[in-house]
Amino acid sequence: MSSATYLAGDFSGIQRYVLGVKSAGKAQAKRLRARSFLIELLEHAALETIRQRLCVAEKDILVRGGGGFLLKIPPAAPGELEEISSDLQRKVWNETGGEIQMSLAWADDPLGAHARLECEKHRPGNSLLQVDGSWSLTASSLPPVDELCEVCRQAPGKRRVTEEGGDVLHCTSCLSARSLGEKLTTWKWMRPGPGPVHVLGVSFEPVNGGGVGEGFHAGRWIPRSRSGEPLTFEEIAGTTTGDRRLAVLKADVDYMGIRVGDIIRKDRSYNDLRSFSRDLHVFFGETIHDLLERDWPLIYTLYAGGDDLLLVGPWNTVLDFVQSLVERFGADPGRKYSPLTLSAGIALSPYRIPIRHAVDRAEKLLEVAKRRPGKNRCATLGTVWSWERHQFVVNNGKQLMTWVVCGVTHRSFLRRLLSLLESRNPTDRQLRAARWSYQIQRNVDRRHNDVRHWAGKVLEYLETDEQRVNELAASLRYALLATRTGRERRDG
Ligand SMILES: [Zn+2]
Repeated sequence: MSSATYLAGDFSGIQRYVLGVKSAGKAQAKRLRARSFLIELLEHAALETIRQRLCVAEKDILVRGGGGFLLKIPPAAPGELEEISSDLQRKVWNETGGEIQMSLAWADDPLGAHARLECEKHRPGNSLLQVDGSWSLTASSLPPVDELCEVCRQAPGKRRVTEEGGDVLHCTSCLSARSLGEKLTTWKWMRPGPGPVHVLGVSFEPVNGGGVGEGFHAGRWIPRSRSGEPLTFEEIAGTTTGDRRLAVLKADVDYMGIRVGDIIRKDRSYNDLRSFSRDLHVFFGETIHDLLERDWPLIYTLYAGGDDLLLVGPWNTVLDFVQSLVERFGADPGRKYSPLTLSAGIALSPYRIPIRHAVDRAEKLLEVAKRRPGKNRCATLGTVWSWERHQFVVNNGKQLMTWVVCGVTHRSFLRRLLSLLESRNPTDRQLRAARWSYQIQRNVDRRHNDVRHWAGKVLEYLETDEQRVNELAASLRYALLATRTGRERRDG
């Protein structure tokens, strides 16, 4: 008989819930932050509930963070696990207006628990809906709708709250996210305790001082004005060079499932799995926060934990930041668990468009980066490159930008070069190279040796290296965005 049981848990619907804020207005950033933190508290509260009811030691939490967990639990009566499961599912459903679903599954070994969890996830809320095997409609139907909440348009409105621009009708879940959001701006560390925040029947309190072991990191890095007010997305976009665009960066660890499987098979005590999960969670949950606080104050964290992150910031700042992110990852978990890499998708978007659309595009770009053999890449500015090329692409873009700013060359000329690179027809590489030479001869003054030198190097690639050509096109797009003026911005 097996001496232990493994319990795996997962929350689904997270991204839709966090980004399901309809307004694109001033309060958008604040609401996203509160919802994203509420998700993290759900995870803590669910773990806390299970730990207390089943007496699980801290060392038996094998994986946590990123919307899921894996625990080693003392052998428990199946009835008790069923009861905990339906109790938690019901609470999660009620407190998020049915937007987040929680699944739990257990087995004699971690891989078995994970396989069962995958099945459970495809019928979320199942034990909630099935009472004695029959579908209970009363459990899942939400109350009748009089007037919908003006924030999420999902649940009935309960109370009007005065905000800039008038009264806004809030539902219960949006009201609690709102009050949580207000507390978040002052708390840095939290722990379960007799505090003012209640999630799934668990109370949390702020920790003064804090530190590892004392509690968990509650702070999201939030860009602020000099007077301490959190900046809106519009204000963040106002700090860009050239075009006022925001960049949404979505990044995660490559081959995560394969790595976890390998680690589990090699070490049956699961100590390695625990340290792997913890090191990644510390990197995404804490190291990134410190990095932003110290060097990148204009970047906003939508989500960071587990093995992935989602950030928003001024487009050019995010393109610089991602280089430090990759270097830091390579020096920390990337070196310890070598070869361990990450990939990223970066979507550039006007600040007026609700951020969830840019998040969708960043996700698609991340998939594009991951489709390349070996992954370990960045997809943005219309192409994909491996990380060792990133600095080159960005610096090249900055060089081109400087030439425009100094009057050495013009935007219209860069635009012509870009359309030349974009009209690629592999059978006609020679013709493309001939056109390139013609453009350079005609438009670049003989005194500007550096530009001619640059153009000469491009000419070599035009006949031999299509990947380099794509990277040069990305640099040209960078320079065009960075030199976009106010009038062009208005004209679209
Ligand atoms: Zn609502």
